Amino acid sequence: MSKDLLYKDAANIYKALMHPARLEIIEILRNGEECVCHITAILGYRQAYISQQLSVLRDAGIVDVRREGWNIYYQIAIPQILEVIDIVKRISGFGEKQINLNPINCVCPKCRTVVEKKSNTRRISMNDISKEQTKNWHLLPICSKEAENLDIVFTCDGAASVGQVGNQVAIELTNAGGQARMCCTTAVGAGSEAHVNIGKNARRVIVINGCANRCASKIMEQHDIKIDHEFTIATMDVQKIPTLNFDEADVRRISAEIAETAGLKKP
Ligand code: SF4
Repeated sequence: MSKDLLYKDAANIYKALMHPARLEIIEILRNGEECVCHITAILGYRQAYISQQLSVLRDAGIVDVRREGWNIYYQIAIPQILEVIDIVKRISGFGEKQINLNPINCVCPKCRTVVEKKSNTRRISMNDISKEQTKNWHLLPICSKEAENLDIVFTCDGAASVGQVGNQVAIELTNAGGQARMCCTTAVGAGSEAHVNIGKNARRVIVINGCANRCASKIMEQHDIKIDHEFTIATMDVQKIPTLNFDEADVRRISAEIAETAGLKKP
């Protein structure tokens, strides 16, 4: 190999290292393989930004990637890179300072375990959770890419009988194991880019309002999310009363009705 090419490879590695976020990512991977959602939660940047930085590191050959189901995992491909970073850290006076890990926002099973390990408070441990409890953990959409193949269900989750029925119906449709998945309407209303994009990229959007006020639908309209199917619980033989209690029979009946109309898997 020519001297120029050797220097080019070395320069590519230096270039990939010349970014604070990429150095932070390498610090996280120092302890072993991590999934993208975990890295995102720890660093607090948007997932798209983290993916962009990871792709620079991958192109430079510094990290390897593997996919497992819906999760993408990264690991250090050149362990010697850590020695280089340690030398630079000593030169720059970074010393033994550690980055502040804060994985609390991440809901993946691995992060929950990390939270358990890093705090002495009793939170949640994978050992305490049965397979039955975890079987639906991966049902909720975590990104707009995933939503492309899903029917996303938004409800108003109103504090009235009809709002609560609508919410429970969405849970039933999600847990049915088809392509319907519930997503956070309030997050869309709050302008969360990730949730708005889930709605915009969804294969279909199904909105369940409690009453004629159409609160969930209005939130979608305000964020230019196209609604494919809209249902209103108060028009489906459920009276709007100021209670959080609801009749399970109504939930079963309406879940089946919505599944039939929207072509979803029946709960
Ligand atoms: S649609 Fe009706 S039930 Fe739902 S949040 Fe609005 S007012 Fe409450």
